Amino acid sequence: MKILVQKFGGTSVATPERMLQVYEKTADGLKRADKLVVVLSARAGETNSLLALADQWSKEPDAAERDCLVSTGEQVSVGLFAILLKQRGIKARSLLAWQIPITTDDNFGNARIRSINSEALHAWLKEHDVLVVAGFQGCTEDKRLTTLGRGGSDTSAVALAAALGAVECEIYTDVDGVYTTDPNICSTARKMDRIAYNEMLEMASMGAKVLHIRSVEFAQKYKVPVRVRCTFNDDPGTLVTQEDSSMEALLVSGIAYDRDQARVTLHAVPDVPGIAAAVFGPLSEKGVLVDMIVQNTSLDGLTDITFTISRKDLKYTLEIMTDVAAAVGAAEVVHDLSVAKVSAIGVGMRNHSGVAARTFAALTKEGINILMISTSEIKITILIQEKYLELAVRILHDTFGLDWDIN
Ligand code: ASP
Ligand code: MG
Repeated sequence: MKILVQKFGGTSVATPERMLQVYEKTADGLKRADKLVVVLSARAGETNSLLALADQWSKEPDAAERDCLVSTGEQVSVGLFAILLKQRGIKARSLLAWQIPITTDDNFGNARIRSINSEALHAWLKEHDVLVVAGFQGCTEDKRLTTLGRGGSDTSAVALAAALGAVECEIYTDVDGVYTTDPNICSTARKMDRIAYNEMLEMASMGAKVLHIRSVEFAQKYKVPVRVRCTFNDDPGTLVTQEDSSMEALLVSGIAYDRDQARVTLHAVPDVPGIAAAVFGPLSEKGVLVDMIVQNTSLDGLTDITFTISRKDLKYTLEIMTDVAAAVGAAEVVHDLSVAKVSAIGVGMRNHSGVAARTFAALTKEGINILMISTSEIKITILIQEKYLELAVRILHDTFGLDWDIN
Protein backbone atom coordinates (compact mmCIF):
# COMPACT_ATOMS: atom_id res chain seq x y z
CA MET A 1 0.00 0.00 0.00
CA LYS A 2 1.38 3.36 -1.08
CA ILE A 3 1.09 5.97 1.67
CA LEU A 4 1.95 9.62 1.01
CA VAL A 5 2.42 12.25 3.72
CA GLN A 6 1.59 15.86 2.86
CA LYS A 7 2.26 18.71 5.29
CA PHE A 8 0.81 22.20 4.88
CA GLY A 9 2.12 25.24 6.75
CA GLY A 10 0.28 28.09 8.41
CA THR A 11 -0.05 30.31 5.32
CA SER A 12 -1.62 27.42 3.36
CA VAL A 13 -4.49 27.02 5.84
CA ALA A 14 -4.86 30.70 6.77
CA THR A 15 -8.01 31.48 4.76
CA PRO A 16 -10.93 29.48 3.30
CA GLU A 17 -9.62 30.14 -0.26
CA ARG A 18 -6.22 28.76 0.62
CA MET A 19 -7.69 25.78 2.38
CA LEU A 20 -9.50 24.99 -0.86
CA GLN A 21 -6.11 24.96 -2.60
CA VAL A 22 -4.89 22.54 0.05
CA TYR A 23 -7.94 20.44 -0.78
CA GLU A 24 -6.86 20.39 -4.46
CA LYS A 25 -3.38 19.19 -3.48
CA THR A 26 -4.90 16.50 -1.32
CA ALA A 27 -7.21 15.35 -4.11
CA ASP A 28 -4.17 15.19 -6.38
CA GLY A 29 -2.23 13.28 -3.71
CA LEU A 30 -4.99 10.68 -3.57
CA LYS A 31 -4.51 10.04 -7.30
CA ARG A 32 -0.82 9.37 -6.74
CA ALA A 33 -1.08 7.23 -3.61
CA ASP A 34 -3.50 4.77 -2.01
CA LYS A 35 -3.73 6.61 1.30
CA LEU A 36 -2.81 10.03 2.58
CA VAL A 37 -1.71 11.41 5.90
CA VAL A 38 -2.13 15.18 5.89
CA VAL A 39 -0.30 17.10 8.61
CA LEU A 40 -1.39 20.66 9.28
CA SER A 41 0.08 23.64 11.13
CA ALA A 42 -1.93 26.26 12.93
CA ARG A 43 -3.30 29.06 10.74
CA ALA A 44 -0.67 31.77 10.14
CA GLY A 45 -0.22 34.00 13.18
CA GLU A 46 -2.22 31.71 15.44
CA THR A 47 0.70 30.21 17.37
CA ASN A 48 2.08 33.69 18.03
CA SER A 49 -1.28 34.89 19.35
CA LEU A 50 -1.61 31.85 21.60
CA LEU A 51 1.90 32.34 22.97
CA ALA A 52 1.08 35.99 23.69
CA LEU A 53 -2.08 34.87 25.45
CA ALA A 54 -0.06 32.50 27.63
CA ASP A 55 2.23 35.36 28.66
CA GLN A 56 -0.57 37.54 30.06
CA TRP A 57 -0.46 36.14 33.60
CA SER A 58 3.23 35.53 33.89
CA LYS A 59 6.50 36.15 32.05
CA GLU A 60 7.26 32.49 32.54
CA PRO A 61 3.98 30.63 32.31
CA ASP A 62 3.88 26.99 33.40
CA ALA A 63 5.43 25.17 30.46
CA ALA A 64 3.03 22.21 30.43
CA GLU A 65 -0.04 24.46 30.53
CA ARG A 66 1.40 26.68 27.86
CA ASP A 67 1.74 23.62 25.58
CA CYS A 68 -1.87 22.69 26.37
CA LEU A 69 -2.89 26.14 25.18
CA VAL A 70 -0.54 26.60 22.22
CA SER A 71 -1.23 23.19 20.68
CA THR A 72 -4.87 24.19 20.10
CA GLY A 73 -3.89 26.14 16.96
CA GLU A 74 -3.30 22.88 15.11
CA GLN A 75 -6.53 21.37 16.47
CA VAL A 76 -8.52 24.14 14.79
CA SER A 77 -6.81 23.46 11.45
CA VAL A 78 -7.35 19.69 11.43
CA GLY A 79 -10.97 19.92 12.56
CA LEU A 80 -11.78 22.48 9.91
CA PHE A 81 -9.99 20.66 7.12
CA ALA A 82 -11.56 17.30 8.01
CA ILE A 83 -14.99 18.95 7.80
CA LEU A 84 -14.14 20.13 4.28
CA LEU A 85 -12.86 16.71 3.16
CA LYS A 86 -15.94 14.92 4.49
CA GLN A 87 -18.23 17.47 2.87
CA ARG A 88 -16.49 16.63 -0.44
CA GLY A 89 -17.19 12.94 0.07
CA ILE A 90 -13.69 11.86 1.09
CA LYS A 91 -13.34 9.27 3.83
CA ALA A 92 -11.30 11.25 6.32
CA ARG A 93 -10.89 11.93 10.01
CA SER A 94 -8.93 14.30 12.20
CA LEU A 95 -6.36 13.05 14.70
CA LEU A 96 -4.68 14.83 17.58
CA ALA A 97 -1.29 13.63 18.81
CA TRP A 98 -2.63 12.16 22.06
CA GLN A 99 -5.17 10.06 20.18
CA ILE A 100 -2.52 8.22 18.16
CA PRO A 101 -0.40 8.70 20.35
CA ILE A 102 2.73 10.51 19.20
CA THR A 103 4.75 10.10 22.38
CA THR A 104 7.45 12.61 23.30
CA ASP A 105 9.74 13.37 26.21
CA ASP A 106 8.55 15.95 28.75
CA ASN A 107 10.68 18.82 27.53
CA PHE A 108 7.64 21.10 27.20
CA GLY A 109 7.91 23.70 24.45
CA ASN A 110 10.68 21.80 22.69
CA ALA A 111 9.81 18.13 23.10
CA ARG A 112 11.38 15.31 21.11
CA ILE A 113 9.37 12.51 19.58
CA ARG A 114 10.08 9.11 21.14
CA SER A 115 7.58 6.88 19.39
CA ILE A 116 4.52 6.86 17.16
CA ASN A 117 1.84 4.20 17.34
CA SER A 118 1.88 3.21 13.71
CA GLU A 119 -0.40 0.20 14.27
CA ALA A 120 -3.21 2.51 15.30
CA LEU A 121 -2.57 4.65 12.22
CA HIS A 122 -2.64 1.61 9.92
CA ALA A 123 -5.92 0.54 11.52
CA TRP A 124 -7.47 3.98 10.88
CA LEU A 125 -6.15 3.90 7.32
CA LYS A 126 -8.20 0.76 6.69
CA GLU A 127 -11.35 2.76 7.36
CA HIS A 128 -10.27 6.10 5.90
CA ASP A 129 -8.46 7.42 2.83
CA VAL A 130 -7.11 10.53 4.51
CA LEU A 131 -5.96 11.01 8.10
CA VAL A 132 -5.65 14.67 9.02
CA VAL A 133 -3.08 14.88 11.81
CA ALA A 134 -2.29 17.90 13.98
CA GLY A 135 1.37 18.88 13.56
CA PHE A 136 3.62 20.42 16.22
CA GLN A 137 2.10 18.45 19.09
CA GLY A 138 2.80 15.30 21.04
CA CYS A 139 2.08 13.92 24.47
CA THR A 140 4.13 12.47 27.29
CA GLU A 141 3.79 8.89 28.59
CA ASP A 142 1.43 10.22 31.24
CA LYS A 143 -0.69 12.04 28.64
CA ARG A 144 0.37 15.64 29.11
CA LEU A 145 0.33 17.63 25.88
CA THR A 146 3.68 18.80 24.50
CA THR A 147 4.85 20.88 21.54
CA LEU A 148 7.91 20.27 19.38
CA GLY A 149 9.35 23.80 19.12
CA ARG A 150 8.55 26.54 16.61
CA GLY A 151 8.21 25.19 13.09
CA GLY A 152 7.81 21.69 14.53
CA SER A 153 5.03 20.52 12.20
CA ASP A 154 7.68 19.63 9.61
CA THR A 155 9.14 17.22 12.14
CA SER A 156 5.70 15.76 12.88
CA ALA A 157 5.25 15.09 9.16
CA VAL A 158 8.65 13.48 8.62
CA ALA A 159 8.29 11.37 11.76
CA LEU A 160 4.87 10.13 10.60
CA ALA A 161 6.32 9.35 7.16
CA ALA A 162 9.12 7.35 8.79
CA ALA A 163 6.74 5.50 11.11
CA LEU A 164 4.39 4.57 8.25
CA GLY A 165 7.06 3.80 5.64
CA ALA A 166 5.55 6.47 3.38
CA VAL A 167 6.83 6.77 -0.19
CA GLU A 168 7.55 10.47 0.31
CA CYS A 169 6.91 13.35 2.67
CA GLU A 170 5.77 16.43 0.80
CA ILE A 171 6.21 19.67 2.72
CA TYR A 172 4.02 22.35 1.15
CA THR A 173 4.91 25.95 1.80
CA ASP A 174 4.64 29.36 0.13
CA VAL A 175 7.93 29.08 -1.78
CA ASP A 176 8.75 26.82 -4.75
CA GLY A 177 11.45 24.84 -3.01
CA VAL A 178 14.99 25.24 -1.73
CA TYR A 179 17.05 27.88 -3.50
CA THR A 180 20.79 28.09 -4.12
CA THR A 181 20.67 31.20 -1.95
CA ASP A 182 18.14 33.75 -0.72
CA PRO A 183 16.37 35.10 -3.85
CA ASN A 184 15.60 38.32 -1.96
CA ILE A 185 19.31 39.08 -1.92
CA CYS A 186 20.50 37.47 -5.12
CA SER A 187 18.35 37.76 -8.23
CA THR A 188 20.15 34.88 -9.96
CA ALA A 189 19.30 32.41 -7.16
CA ARG A 190 17.94 29.21 -8.64
CA LYS A 191 15.61 26.59 -7.27
CA MET A 192 17.43 23.29 -6.76
CA ASP A 193 15.89 20.07 -8.06
CA ARG A 194 17.64 18.03 -5.38
CA ILE A 195 19.72 18.60 -2.29
CA ALA A 196 21.47 16.11 0.01
CA TYR A 197 20.32 15.80 3.64
CA ASN A 198 23.73 16.97 4.85
CA GLU A 199 23.60 20.07 2.70
CA MET A 200 20.06 20.85 3.80
CA LEU A 201 21.13 20.53 7.44
CA GLU A 202 23.90 23.04 6.87
CA MET A 203 21.56 25.37 4.98
CA ALA A 204 18.95 25.15 7.74
CA SER A 205 21.46 25.74 10.53
CA MET A 206 22.58 28.85 8.63
CA GLY A 207 19.11 30.30 8.74
CA ALA A 208 17.50 28.99 5.51
CA LYS A 209 14.05 28.74 7.05
CA VAL A 210 12.25 26.37 4.67
CA LEU A 211 12.55 23.30 6.89
CA HIS A 212 12.64 22.76 10.65
CA ILE A 213 16.17 21.49 11.25
CA ARG A 214 15.06 18.55 13.36
CA SER A 215 12.84 17.33 10.53
CA VAL A 216 15.90 17.08 8.29
CA GLU A 217 17.83 15.15 10.96
CA PHE A 218 14.87 12.80 11.24
CA ALA A 219 14.60 12.41 7.47
CA GLN A 220 18.30 11.65 7.17
CA LYS A 221 18.23 9.11 10.00
CA TYR A 222 15.24 7.23 8.62
CA LYS A 223 16.00 7.91 4.94
CA VAL A 224 12.65 9.61 4.30
CA PRO A 225 12.58 11.40 0.93
CA VAL A 226 11.29 14.92 1.63
CA ARG A 227 9.96 17.15 -1.12
CA VAL A 228 9.60 20.88 -0.48
CA ARG A 229 6.81 22.18 -2.73
CA CYS A 230 4.55 25.18 -3.12
CA THR A 231 0.83 24.97 -2.28
CA PHE A 232 -0.04 27.54 -4.91
CA ASN A 233 1.50 26.04 -8.09
CA ASP A 234 2.42 22.69 -9.65
CA ASP A 235 6.19 22.97 -9.52
CA PRO A 236 7.78 19.63 -8.50
CA GLY A 237 9.79 21.51 -5.86
CA THR A 238 13.07 20.33 -4.32
CA LEU A 239 13.74 16.76 -3.26
CA VAL A 240 15.81 16.43 -0.08
CA THR A 241 17.42 13.03 -0.32
CA GLN A 242 20.50 10.85 0.07
CA GLU A 243 23.59 12.11 -1.62
CA ASP A 244 24.77 10.57 -4.88
CA SER A 245 27.61 11.04 -7.33
CA SER A 246 25.83 13.69 -9.40
CA MET A 247 25.61 15.90 -6.33
CA GLU A 248 29.31 15.42 -5.66
CA ALA A 249 30.13 16.64 -9.14
CA LEU A 250 29.02 20.08 -8.07
CA LEU A 251 31.64 21.84 -5.96
CA VAL A 252 29.24 24.13 -4.11
CA SER A 253 25.47 23.65 -3.98
CA GLY A 254 24.35 26.68 -2.05
CA ILE A 255 25.33 29.89 -0.30
CA ALA A 256 23.74 30.49 3.08
CA TYR A 257 24.07 33.31 5.54
CA ASP A 258 23.23 34.24 9.10
CA ARG A 259 22.98 37.76 10.48
CA ASP A 260 22.38 36.53 14.01
CA GLN A 261 26.01 36.77 15.06
CA ALA A 262 27.79 38.72 17.78
CA ARG A 263 31.55 38.62 18.24
CA VAL A 264 33.21 38.66 21.65
CA THR A 265 36.95 38.93 22.28
CA LEU A 266 38.94 38.44 25.46
CA HIS A 267 42.16 40.41 25.09
CA ALA A 268 45.49 39.49 26.59
CA VAL A 269 44.56 36.23 28.25
CA PRO A 270 47.46 34.28 29.83
CA ASP A 271 48.31 31.45 27.41
CA VAL A 272 48.32 28.56 29.89
CA PRO A 273 46.55 25.19 29.95
CA GLY A 274 42.94 25.34 31.10
CA ILE A 275 42.10 28.80 29.77
CA ALA A 276 39.74 27.64 27.03
CA ALA A 277 37.91 25.46 29.55
CA ALA A 278 37.67 28.41 31.95
CA VAL A 279 36.17 30.60 29.20
CA PHE A 280 33.80 28.17 27.49
CA GLY A 281 32.85 25.98 30.47
CA PRO A 282 30.61 28.62 32.13
CA LEU A 283 29.00 29.50 28.79
CA SER A 284 28.03 25.93 28.04
CA GLU A 285 26.78 25.45 31.62
CA LYS A 286 24.41 28.37 31.06
CA GLY A 287 23.27 26.97 27.72
CA VAL A 288 24.91 29.62 25.51
CA LEU A 289 25.76 28.11 22.12
CA VAL A 290 29.18 29.20 20.90
CA ASP A 291 29.59 29.09 17.15
CA MET A 292 33.00 30.06 15.75
CA ILE A 293 36.14 30.17 17.96
CA VAL A 294 39.61 31.53 17.22
CA GLN A 295 42.60 31.69 19.54
CA ASN A 296 45.56 33.76 18.37
CA THR A 297 49.17 32.65 18.68
CA SER A 298 50.60 33.97 21.89
CA LEU A 299 52.85 36.97 22.25
CA ASP A 300 54.79 37.30 25.51
CA GLY A 301 52.69 34.50 26.99
CA LEU A 302 49.43 36.35 26.28
CA THR A 303 46.82 35.57 23.66
CA ASP A 304 43.38 36.74 22.40
CA ILE A 305 40.35 34.47 22.34
CA THR A 306 37.53 35.43 19.98
CA PHE A 307 34.19 33.67 19.55
CA THR A 308 30.73 34.26 18.14
CA ILE A 309 27.29 33.70 19.64
CA SER A 310 23.68 34.51 18.85
CA ARG A 311 22.87 38.21 19.38
CA LYS A 312 20.18 37.41 21.91
CA ASP A 313 22.82 35.83 24.17
CA LEU A 314 25.19 38.82 24.06
CA LYS A 315 24.13 40.62 27.24
CA TYR A 316 24.26 37.44 29.27
CA THR A 317 27.56 36.35 27.72
CA LEU A 318 29.20 39.69 28.52
CA GLU A 319 28.11 39.34 32.14
CA ILE A 320 29.65 35.88 32.33
CA MET A 321 32.80 37.00 30.49
CA THR A 322 33.38 39.91 32.86
CA ASP A 323 33.64 37.41 35.72
CA VAL A 324 35.74 35.00 33.65
CA ALA A 325 38.11 37.81 32.58
CA ALA A 326 38.66 38.78 36.21
CA ALA A 327 39.24 35.15 37.22
CA VAL A 328 41.78 34.34 34.48
CA GLY A 329 43.43 37.77 34.43
CA ALA A 330 42.41 38.91 30.93
CA ALA A 331 42.97 42.58 30.09
CA GLU A 332 39.53 43.36 28.66
CA VAL A 333 36.38 42.00 26.98
CA VAL A 334 35.22 43.67 23.76
CA HIS A 335 32.31 42.90 21.47
CA ASP A 336 30.98 43.67 18.01
CA LEU A 337 27.36 43.39 16.87
CA SER A 338 27.89 44.44 13.26
CA VAL A 339 29.09 41.06 12.01
CA ALA A 340 27.42 38.30 9.98
CA LYS A 341 28.51 35.02 8.49
CA VAL A 342 28.27 33.58 5.03
CA SER A 343 28.87 29.96 4.03
CA ALA A 344 29.48 28.01 0.88
CA ILE A 345 27.97 24.53 1.23
CA GLY A 346 28.36 21.42 -0.89
CA VAL A 347 29.06 17.71 -0.57
CA GLY A 348 31.36 18.08 -3.58
CA MET A 349 33.88 19.88 -1.37
CA ARG A 350 34.76 16.62 0.28
CA ASN A 351 36.62 15.41 -2.78
CA HIS A 352 37.82 18.67 -4.27
CA SER A 353 40.33 21.18 -3.01
CA GLY A 354 40.42 24.88 -3.70
CA VAL A 355 37.01 25.98 -2.44
CA ALA A 356 38.52 27.91 0.45
CA ALA A 357 41.12 29.58 -1.77
CA ARG A 358 38.48 30.60 -4.32
CA THR A 359 36.24 31.95 -1.56
CA PHE A 360 39.02 34.07 -0.08
CA ALA A 361 40.15 35.34 -3.49
CA ALA A 362 36.62 36.36 -4.47
CA LEU A 363 36.05 38.30 -1.25
CA THR A 364 39.48 39.92 -1.38
CA LYS A 365 38.83 41.17 -4.91
CA GLU A 366 35.88 43.14 -3.57
CA GLY A 367 37.87 44.44 -0.62
CA ILE A 368 35.84 42.48 1.94
CA ASN A 369 37.85 41.80 5.06
CA ILE A 370 37.64 38.29 6.51
CA LEU A 371 37.26 38.39 10.29
CA MET A 372 37.02 34.68 11.09
CA ILE A 373 37.00 31.42 9.17
CA SER A 374 35.67 27.99 10.03
CA THR A 375 35.42 24.90 7.90
CA SER A 376 33.80 21.51 7.98
CA GLU A 377 33.89 18.68 5.47
CA ILE A 378 31.12 20.20 3.36
CA LYS A 379 31.09 23.85 4.42
CA ILE A 380 33.31 26.89 4.59
CA THR A 381 32.10 29.77 6.72
CA ILE A 382 33.44 33.30 6.81
CA LEU A 383 32.63 36.01 9.34
CA ILE A 384 32.56 39.50 7.81
CA GLN A 385 31.18 42.96 8.57
CA GLU A 386 27.43 42.81 8.21
CA LYS A 387 27.36 45.74 5.77
CA TYR A 388 29.13 43.53 3.18
CA LEU A 389 26.88 40.53 3.66
CA GLU A 390 24.61 40.89 0.63
CA LEU A 391 27.54 41.66 -1.63
CA ALA A 392 29.43 38.63 -0.31
CA VAL A 393 26.45 36.34 -0.93
CA ARG A 394 26.13 37.53 -4.53
CA ILE A 395 29.86 37.26 -5.19
CA LEU A 396 30.12 33.71 -3.87
CA HIS A 397 26.97 32.66 -5.71
CA ASP A 398 28.57 33.90 -8.91
CA THR A 399 32.07 32.56 -8.12
CA PHE A 400 30.79 29.02 -7.78
CA GLY A 401 28.64 29.23 -10.91
CA LEU A 402 25.37 28.67 -9.11
CA ASP A 403 23.33 30.71 -11.54
CA TRP A 404 24.35 28.42 -14.41
CA ASP A 405 21.97 25.62 -15.05
CA ILE A 406 24.38 22.74 -14.68
CA ASN A 407 22.47 20.71 -12.14
N1 ASP B 1 2.35 26.30 14.47
C1 ASP B 1 3.69 26.06 14.91
C2 ASP B 1 4.54 27.30 14.77
O1 ASP B 1 4.06 28.32 14.33
C3 ASP B 1 4.32 24.89 14.25
C4 ASP B 1 4.55 25.02 12.77
O2 ASP B 1 4.00 25.91 12.13
O3 ASP B 1 5.27 24.20 12.22
O4 ASP B 1 5.67 27.31 15.12
MG1 MG C 1 7.45 26.07 8.82
